[in-house]
Amino acid sequence: MGIMRLSSSGWLNLKWSPVFNPICRAAGRNRIFLLSAFSTIHSTLSLYSSCHHPSSPHRYSFPMPNFSSTVSAPRGRLRGVVFDMDGTLTVPVIDFAAMHKSVLGDEEYVRIKSLNPSGIDILHIIQSWAPEKQRRAYEVIADFERQGIDRLQIMPGAAELCTFLDSKNIRRGLITRNIKEAVDIFHQRFGWTFHPALSREFGYYKPNPAPLLHICSSWDVLPNEVIMIGDSLRDDVGCGKQAGAFTCLLDETGRYNSEHYANMDLEPDFKVSTLGEVLHLLNANFELAP
Ligand SMILES: [Mg+2]
Repeated sequence: MGIMRLSSSGWLNLKWSPVFNPICRAAGRNRIFLLSAFSTIHSTLSLYSSCHHPSSPHRYSFPMPNFSSTVSAPRGRLRGVVFDMDGTLTVPVIDFAAMHKSVLGDEEYVRIKSLNPSGIDILHIIQSWAPEKQRRAYEVIADFERQGIDRLQIMPGAAELCTFLDSKNIRRGLITRNIKEAVDIFHQRFGWTFHPALSREFGYYKPNPAPLLHICSSWDVLPNEVIMIGDSLRDDVGCGKQAGAFTCLLDETGRYNSEHYANMDLEPDFKVSTLGEVLHLLNANFELAP
């Protein structure tokens, strides 16, 4: 199965959700998919107002949206594409299960995995560890990542997609939980540059929306004019949704059809099984305007 548009009401919501305020955004997005078009407009306006209340510590200025033209214009404007790196722009080579077992130990891995069947956030877990234990954990992770660099392969379809985006003058950025060294080597081997390209050193990593919001800000575009593409439902789709961007899940093997993911409150706007499908998806569903 190729491209899917997963939400019939998503356009309206995504187009005008409050932006640059993850707290407001998260609340808005959860509400949006439950409401009719009319009540969505009403609640979005309310939420928009609350985000701009004079007493709010985070106030941003936006032009008031024109809802009537939004309803009659189903194609959202897209000005930038942000990619995950490992498993999206590169063929997946890092054995994350083995990495997590090495960091946690077999028993702890089984225990934590049973609590988090959809995936272990290893960077988050080791954050609370004592400094020495944490240092050893980072060494193990870096070891796996170095092996990944050695075997790095560019994902089929990635170059064609970059050529296409260039032809439309659409920006392209990158967010990875991997280290900067890996991003530098990826850039060297691939020959196409992504800017900004934010690695673990940025300080906030997916699914935290901060890196994506930072990229939008540096591009001077709104999050709802950007699509986040990646192979992790939790990290990439989670980051994109919290930021208020469109999201596309790359699921090459159909692993997200598994029951492990049934209870995750994350629904991508699109799902593809190859990166090559993204080009057609963008053409068919968006007004590509830099
Ligand atoms: Mg990935």
